[in-house]
Amino acid sequence: MSKSSECVKVIVRCRPFVKTEKQKKCKSIIEVDQQISQISIKKSDNSYKTFRYDAVATMESSQVDVYTNSAFSMIESAIQGYNATIFAYGQTGCGKTHTMIGEMDDENLKGIMPRSFEHIFSVINSNEKPDDRKYLVRCSFIEIYNEDIHDLLSKDPRKKKEIKEDPNMGVFVKGATMSIAKTLADIKKALALGSKNRKKGETLMNKDSSRSHCMFTVYVETQESIAKSDKIKVGKLNLVDLAGSERQKKSGAANQRLKEASNINLSLTSLMNVISALVNSKKTHIPYRDSKLTRLLEDSLGGNTKTCMIANISPADYNFEETMSTLRYANRAKNIKNRPKINQDPKDTLLKEYLEEIKRLKTMLDDM
Ligand code: ADP
Ligand code: MG
Repeated sequence: MSKSSECVKVIVRCRPFVKTEKQKKCKSIIEVDQQISQISIKKSDNSYKTFRYDAVATMESSQVDVYTNSAFSMIESAIQGYNATIFAYGQTGCGKTHTMIGEMDDENLKGIMPRSFEHIFSVINSNEKPDDRKYLVRCSFIEIYNEDIHDLLSKDPRKKKEIKEDPNMGVFVKGATMSIAKTLADIKKALALGSKNRKKGETLMNKDSSRSHCMFTVYVETQESIAKSDKIKVGKLNLVDLAGSERQKKSGAANQRLKEASNINLSLTSLMNVISALVNSKKTHIPYRDSKLTRLLEDSLGGNTKTCMIANISPADYNFEETMSTLRYANRAKNIKNRPKINQDPKDTLLKEYLEEIKRLKTMLDDM
């Protein structure tokens, strides 16, 4: 496959049985053949439906295995100035947050986000001195709940934010906090703060975080050695933990819950419609505008980006319907073709502003 046209990478991860499932002696309906990246699901007539993906992770796969197979190359790309997006899809309770965040401070159990941050800062720290390269890392953390956008890094995350579009910046959330991370500790702190705010919102606003999408974005600005060139590249890494994909039961749901359910359906259906339109080369209209999620993912699905979807499933028999639906969803995503390119020298880099400010101050000093 040529480098300019790459498919979305799709990985399916089957979590182990949780305690209650073990107690209930649930049966597994999932068989994994890692060698050929194949998953088979047992149907009620005992026959199997088989799917193949780019990679599959078994119940025993470790966090580091999943990271190496999914995120590693994407992080390298983001540092080189590409857009990269990793998103976790699946039914609630199937391991999306475990995969994306995990136990932040546990060496074995930390997930993709903390590992990505470590990766980025290890590259920065090893490169900064030898060739005079300069880096600036900033991040934002937002939540989409009921088609409202909240800034998880702000003092008042309850406030709703608007989406704006700008020729230089593309689609963005107006007024969302951009935290500058000078160190690994800074960016981990931003993730911890946002996660805490997400939890706090659950109690304060009677929210259920399984019904919201959250997106942590890391911007890596790089200036190559001054001797080589002045150019600044900006890589953007979106780390998305999607709302639970389970079909929402209408019966018995109160008004608030019904509204949430239809909004989740709207965004996940829009995501699928965008995916389908991207797969269908005859379609020129891609319906990004149908939901907030797809609008914000506009530069992260198709087009100028590298995308990895991790579909999380449960092994248990009672989840058959949802697991089948996740496997089908992941199967459709496999065919998207992207044409990633490096974001060279965009107008809005902070690093550029800073370097210009330094230049200006130096001139002032020289003139004194
Ligand atoms: P989701 O975010 O999709 O709702 P979670 O990540 O919260 O699901 O996972 C639900 C439960 O299953 C948690 O207790 C989590 O620790 C556990 N779990 C999920 N995936 C794994 C895994 N691969 N290995 C061990 N435990 C897991
Ligand atoms: Mg979760």
